Amino acid sequence: MQKLEKVLIANRGEIALRILRACKEMGIKTVAVYSTADRDLMHLGLADETVCIGPAPGAQSYLSIPAIISAAEVTGATAIHPGYGFLAENADFAEQVEKSGFAFIGPTADVIHLMGDKVSAKDAMIKSGVPVVPGSDGPLPEDEEEALRIAREVGYPVIIKAAGGGGGRGMRVVHKEEDLIKSAKLTRTEAGAAFGNPMVYLEKFLGNPRHVEVQVLSDGQGNAIHLYDRDCSLQRRHQKVLEEAPAPLIDEKARAEVLKRCVDACVEIGYRGAGTFEFLYEDGRFYFIEMNTRVQVEHPVTEMVTGIDIVKEMLSIAAGNKLSIKQEDVKIIGHALECRINAEDPDNFMPCPGKVKHYHAPGGNGIRVDSHLYSGYSVPPNYDSLIGKLISYGRTRDEAMARMRNALEEIVVDGIKTNIPLHRDLTRDKGFLKGGVNIHYLEKKLGMDKH
Ligand code: ADP
Repeated sequence: MQKLEKVLIANRGEIALRILRACKEMGIKTVAVYSTADRDLMHLGLADETVCIGPAPGAQSYLSIPAIISAAEVTGATAIHPGYGFLAENADFAEQVEKSGFAFIGPTADVIHLMGDKVSAKDAMIKSGVPVVPGSDGPLPEDEEEALRIAREVGYPVIIKAAGGGGGRGMRVVHKEEDLIKSAKLTRTEAGAAFGNPMVYLEKFLGNPRHVEVQVLSDGQGNAIHLYDRDCSLQRRHQKVLEEAPAPLIDEKARAEVLKRCVDACVEIGYRGAGTFEFLYEDGRFYFIEMNTRVQVEHPVTEMVTGIDIVKEMLSIAAGNKLSIKQEDVKIIGHALECRINAEDPDNFMPCPGKVKHYHAPGGNGIRVDSHLYSGYSVPPNYDSLIGKLISYGRTRDEAMARMRNALEEIVVDGIKTNIPLHRDLTRDKGFLKGGVNIHYLEKKLGMDKH
């Protein structure tokens, strides 16, 4: 077994702590980097070395490639873990990391680039036999007649999406033909400004799909496995709120087929590391929407039901080892749920940074808390509002749900507003308790669904 020597964690918050824990478990030295707004992050005290990489704005710290590479150079790190968000899916970053002589804990820059452009990603999936949402099969042409023809053929409603989009931004649903051209232009302009790439594509807007995704591990040496699926249909503004594994009530034949296709696609594209194929699932069928070439926020639910530590596997693959797990050894036992705890006002969802006066973490059988919170910690206003993840495990979905309800009663985060009340409500919601709700369910419940 080869082992990485020293890993620089190019991230913050709960995921930085998560990666640090995995490194320490494996006897790998750690370098934690931080911005001046993040001097009080929990993992800094646990890392072997720390480096301040710049001021609070992300662009000058966690998104600054030169700052991160210099930190790796001065500390003698041998590898860089990007976590999620920030530079995790930036192909230039991956390339510069490797060119500077460090191992990038993720896929090669080429693969990030291929999957980062949703148009080329969809194309690659079609070639590997992964089912996709019917649509423009390539960019939506600027020629108005041609664009109208394609949309008519696909059938309204359609969704116009930015090829370079992400994080739920850069999408527009079009219900009638007269709105198509205007919407395409608007989305192009927004995409150009937000992602530096004005290319858009079009696909059928599925009415009531679920969001079901497949976790994979692949060593880039011809071996790939899947770790089954997760359901992340409870979303608000395309942002996931509560996730679970495995996805309940899925057609077994369709599931087996899609899992196999994802594994084949990994081998085909030479995928290295942990990754997620995201699908919409409707009427027993899967439709690929995008691939995330990184560890995801919701990876713990898969870890709970498979017993596999995804971050440790990423570290092992990046060291050059072949996959140590065989597909037949991956078994799902039980069910897991994850509530994303955000520092936000539960009434209007506005971010709510500030000082946590008192924090008490829940516990007990089947409860896991991934969070960098502690009493006295100040949530800075500069970054994402995610302050922790509450994960529950049970032999059945009902047991996991009951444990989650307990944990949500026990947890105390005083001093700032959080979305914990929303989770308390959701874990008692009759529709959600049945399982299999679609991606509009939460917004409908909150009275904000426009469809
Ligand atoms: P992002 O990278 O910004 O997260 P995705 O392509 O993954 O974008 O889409 C995010 C969400 O948008 C999906 O989970 C789903 O809720 C909605 N969505 C995307 N494409 C479609 C579609 N063709 N039909 C219906 N909803 C869609």
